[in-house]
Amino acid sequence: MTRGWTSDVDGHTPPPARRAHAVRARIDELHRRHAAAPVDVVSYYPPEAAGRPEVFGLAGVHVSGVRVSVGDSAERFPLQSISKVFTYALALEDNGRDATLARVGVEPSGDPYNSITFDDAHHRPFNPMINSGALVAAALVHGRTRAERVERLVARLRAFAGDPGIDVDRTILAEQLRSTDRNLGLAYVMRSLGMLDGDIEDTVAVYLSACSVTTTTDELAVMGATLANGGVNPVTGERAMPAALVRDVLSVMLTCGMYDAAGQWFHDVGIPAKSGVSGGIVAALPGRIGIAVYSPGLDGHGNSVRGVNLCRDLSEHFGLHVFTAARPDAAFT
Ligand code: GLU
Repeated sequence: MTRGWTSDVDGHTPPPARRAHAVRARIDELHRRHAAAPVDVVSYYPPEAAGRPEVFGLAGVHVSGVRVSVGDSAERFPLQSISKVFTYALALEDNGRDATLARVGVEPSGDPYNSITFDDAHHRPFNPMINSGALVAAALVHGRTRAERVERLVARLRAFAGDPGIDVDRTILAEQLRSTDRNLGLAYVMRSLGMLDGDIEDTVAVYLSACSVTTTTDELAVMGATLANGGVNPVTGERAMPAALVRDVLSVMLTCGMYDAAGQWFHDVGIPAKSGVSGGIVAALPGRIGIAVYSPGLDGHGNSVRGVNLCRDLSEHFGLHVFTAARPDAAFT
């Protein structure tokens, strides 16, 4: 195993140019290997994505701002559940840690993302990375109207990504609003139990608007790097969220971010991350790097098959697991 994105294969520290070349070659080689590997895909989202199973992007952004992109990293896709991270971040900022925690917990549920189960002992959804908790987080985002809440969320996503053009894809949103019975049902059940208040359709629309924001693997890696960098976008220098709340977000990503495979991910990859059914994954290693992967074939948990496999290898080869001991303070190139 090499440690850091900077060591060469023998663990020596070569001169910067050679080192950068060696790191790039290793990343390219891992991407190629997983692009060629036959994978056991269970589903694609949306189903049209089955026609383009080969799309496969990888990007990394170091907190110094140094970037690397491989494959289809400029391909656009909707954030889907990855947006839950940023909705939660804004809910925390708008309401503070204690008031947010009173409404949504930080406990892994072990259930699928859309399950209708709650933390009955505390009278709240288990965590903000599953739909019930993300709906509560969406309801906690401040704004006088639905449009204002969506606009505030999109503005934050722009700051995280460093792209003023990032926006809700209206076609994707309309499609999601048409087939969202389960989210509406979840929200109504939560309101009947007193876990959620306000207008249900507004809450579901705010949540799905964030899910329908499209991005690229390149941009998503910057979003991850912003979380890794204490909330400051390392490319633009803009603060996207308060520093004091970043650890709250990274903690729920680490324990709850990968659907009901969060434990396996923590064990194998060990980087705070969130996936979405579009096939994207964002990962943020505090103080070091943001990583994004996009490949639309999903496993039975809803995680990108190639995305998970590639991240596992990246973590192994570059010593990225948070519990990797004696990690040298390395640069990206
Ligand atoms: N729009 C999806 C839903 O709430 C998000 C699914 C996901 O990425 O997990 O049903």
